[in-house]
Amino acid sequence: MQTIRHTLPDDLLMGYAAGVLPQPFDLVVATHVSLNDDARARLAGFEAVGGAVLDDMDGAKLAEDSLECTLARIAGMVPEPRPMPSRGIFPTPLQRVVGGDEDAVRWKSLGMGAKQALLCSDGEATARLLLIPAGQAMPAHSHRGMEMTLVLKGAFRDEDGIYARGDIEVADQQVDHTPVAEPGEDCICLIATDGRLKFNGLLPRIAQPFFGI
Ligand code: ZN
Repeated sequence: MQTIRHTLPDDLLMGYAAGVLPQPFDLVVATHVSLNDDARARLAGFEAVGGAVLDDMDGAKLAEDSLECTLARIAGMVPEPRPMPSRGIFPTPLQRVVGGDEDAVRWKSLGMGAKQALLCSDGEATARLLLIPAGQAMPAHSHRGMEMTLVLKGAFRDEDGIYARGDIEVADQQVDHTPVAEPGEDCICLIATDGRLKFNGLLPRIAQPFFGI
């Protein structure tokens, strides 16, 4: 069985369950959860708790935009996570957005063999695929806000350890790292970034709609 060493913290799974994450982050969470049985089980628990909280709020006033948010989520392009299909390297939520698997990606060259493909954006938040040739360092970047990096193929290493398929790294302005693709295989990652989202500041925002407080 595949061992996934780096998964999502509970608060971000709750944020996904509560529907408060920007769509690009929804895509990364749904894709990660498709690859990770433990995260999928934890998410199911939060969704059950969230449903119970809503049931208990019988007659309580919902946020004015709660219907719109729910409808937007239902109509949204990010499908629910599900176990990995048997073919291809992209889990179903990502295949729906890309329109296929790895060979359907419309890459744009970044130079030095690195490529990226923008998938979707929502305000300042964007999701993109990044391909880093084996053994090469990722383009230098800083974190103004939150960044989620999910490995789909190959692996990369940084000051925090090694990240292989299914592993996810959550970084923010506190994190200073230099990811380098491991030798032997090109590394493909799905990355969501948002310059405004501060990981620490996000926690109360996630808890509020989730627990109805
Ligand atoms: Zn980073």
